[in-house]
Amino acid sequence: MLKQSPTICIFFFLHQQTIHWFTCTCNYINKQATLTNMKFLAASLLAFPLVFTVWFIFRHPITTDRAEFAQARVFPSANIQSVSGDISSQEIGMTQHKLLGGLLAPGFDEKSCLSRYHSVSYRKMSRYMPSSHLLSKLRSYEDLHRQCGPHTKSYNETLKQIKAGNTVASSTECNYIVWISFSGLGNRMLTLASAFLYALLTNRVLLVDRGKDMADLFCEPFPDMSWLLPLDFPITNQFESFNQNSPSCYGKMLKNNIITKESKPSFLYLHLVHDYQDHDKMFFCDQDQTFLKRVPWLIMKTNNYFVPSLFLILSFEKELSKLFPEKETVFHHLGRYLFHPTNQVWGLIIRYYQAYLAKADERIGIQVRVFDTGKGPFPYVMDQIVACALNSKLLPKLSMKESGITPLRNQRSKAILVTSLDSGYYENLSNMYWEHPTVTGEVISFFQPSHEEYQQTEKKNHNRKAWAEMFLLSLTDVLVTSSWSTFGYVAQGLAGSKAWILYKPENRSAPNPPCRIAMSMEPCFHAPPFYDCKAKKGIDTGLVVPHVRHCEDMSWGLKLVGADNHLQQ
Ligand code: GDP
Repeated sequence: MLKQSPTICIFFFLHQQTIHWFTCTCNYINKQATLTNMKFLAASLLAFPLVFTVWFIFRHPITTDRAEFAQARVFPSANIQSVSGDISSQEIGMTQHKLLGGLLAPGFDEKSCLSRYHSVSYRKMSRYMPSSHLLSKLRSYEDLHRQCGPHTKSYNETLKQIKAGNTVASSTECNYIVWISFSGLGNRMLTLASAFLYALLTNRVLLVDRGKDMADLFCEPFPDMSWLLPLDFPITNQFESFNQNSPSCYGKMLKNNIITKESKPSFLYLHLVHDYQDHDKMFFCDQDQTFLKRVPWLIMKTNNYFVPSLFLILSFEKELSKLFPEKETVFHHLGRYLFHPTNQVWGLIIRYYQAYLAKADERIGIQVRVFDTGKGPFPYVMDQIVACALNSKLLPKLSMKESGITPLRNQRSKAILVTSLDSGYYENLSNMYWEHPTVTGEVISFFQPSHEEYQQTEKKNHNRKAWAEMFLLSLTDVLVTSSWSTFGYVAQGLAGSKAWILYKPENRSAPNPPCRIAMSMEPCFHAPPFYDCKAKKGIDTGLVVPHVRHCEDMSWGLKLVGADNHLQQ
C-alpha cells in the first residue's frame, strides 16, 4: 500500500485519479492535521476543478473541428506509456494517429495491405487536418460504394441500361464514373484523385479500369467493396480507342448537336485529355453538369489534374469550401486516403528506407525529370540542380582546397535521395561530395534506387519502382522537384510540404534563378479551359477567384493555393 505523502497525492491529482487523490488527501490530513497540511488541502481543492476543466476540454469534443485540433496534438505523446495506466485513451490516440486523423476507415485487414496503417510510422505527421465535413463525406461515400459497388443489385440494374441500348427509361439508384487507366503513373494518380473528387461532388460511384497494373500497385481504398471495374464490363474493349471523335464522346455529340434537352443516354464518354477541344471543355460548365446528372454511366479518360477547374464551377463552390476549407490540401488528403502501396511495393519502400535513409539526421529528395530530347545527363540541368541546392542551403558548399580535410566538428548527416530515369545526375553529385569536403563538415550521402533509362509504362516492375520512388520522395524532409512533372507533384502532395521547383530550362541553358519554393503543394492542371460559361466568351481562369492561380512552373496552368498565397504569383 502507498504511504500517503503530499508528493503521492499530487501525483494522483496530476493524473486525474480523482478517487485516489481524494482518499490520499483525506488520509494524509487525518494523520497530520497541521496548518501546512490544511493549506495543501485548500490549494488542492481549489486547483482540481480548474485542471479538470482544462483536461475535459482537450479530451472531449466540443465541436468536431476542435476535437480534430486537439487530437492532432495528442498523437505524438500517445506512444509514451501512461503512468496512470490509462491504456484506453492511449489506444484511442494511436488509432487516430494510424487513421490519419479519421481520414482512413478502420477495420481493414492489416496484413493484406501493410502500408495503409503503417506508413504513418515513416512519415512526418501532416500539418493539415481533414475537415469534419470531408470525413463525414468519405464515410457516406464508403456506404454508397458498398451499396452500389461491383455486382451489387444496384450495379447489376444500372448495368442493364448500357446493355439495353442508348437511352435511359427512368432515373437510376446508383450512378457511376468510370476512370480509364491512361498515361504515366504520376498522371494516373492525379487523374484518379480528380475523378474521385468529382464522384464525391456528384454522388457517383468511382470504378477503376484496372489497365495493366492498377491492382498490382494500389490496395483497395474503400472498405468491403472493390473499386475495380469488373472484368466483364460490357464496353471495356472500347476504352483504348475512345477519343474526341468517338460517337459516344460528349464533346463530339455537343458539337454535332446530338445532345438535346430530352436526351437521356445510358453512358457518355468524357474526353478530358490534353488534346481536348472546346466542346469537350464544356464539361466544366454548370449547365452541362446539370445535364450530366441524368447519365448513369460517365466514362472518363484524362491525363489532367482537373481539380482547380472544379473550383470554378458555381454549383460545386459551396460544397468544395466545406470539404476543403484549406484549399491547398485537396490532393494531400485525397492522395493519402486513396493511394496505399500494395505489399509488394511496400516491401520496396521500407527495405530501401531502412537501408539508406532511416539513420540520417535529415533526408532531402531531388527528383530529376528532363523533358528535353537526347541523352543525358545534361550539363545545364546539373548546373541548375547544384545552384538550387546551394542557394537554398539544402546542400553545404564544398571546400576547394587541394588536400582539404574539414575537421569533424559538425557530424550531422544528410541523406540525399535522387530519383531520375538517368543515373548521371546522381553520379555527378555523389562524386562532387566524395572528391571534396564540405565546408560545414556535414556528411552527405547520395542514393538513387533505380535508373530505368526511359519510361516503360507497360511494365509492371517498372511501375512498381516508380510508385516506390514517388512514395520514398514523399518521406523526405525537403523536396526539390522538376517543372511539369506529375511524378514530382504526387511526391509533394503526399509529403504535405511545399517543394523547391526547378524552373524549366529554356534553350538548353540553366535558368536563373534556378528554382523557387512552390506557392502551394497542389499539383498543376496543365491544360485548363479558358472559358466563361455564363458570358460565353474566353477569359483568364487564373484571375477569377483568389484560390485558383497560374502555376509557378507553367504559366498557363492552374493550381489551388492557400490563403497565404492569394496575392503571390
Ligand atoms: P511525368 O511524365 O513526370 O509527369 O510523370 P509520370 O509518372 O506520369 O510519367 C513518367 C513515367 O516515367 C513514370 O511513371 C515512370 O514510369 C517513369 N519515370 C520518370 N521518372 C522516373 C524516376 O525518377 N524513377 C522511376 N523509377 N521512373 C521514372
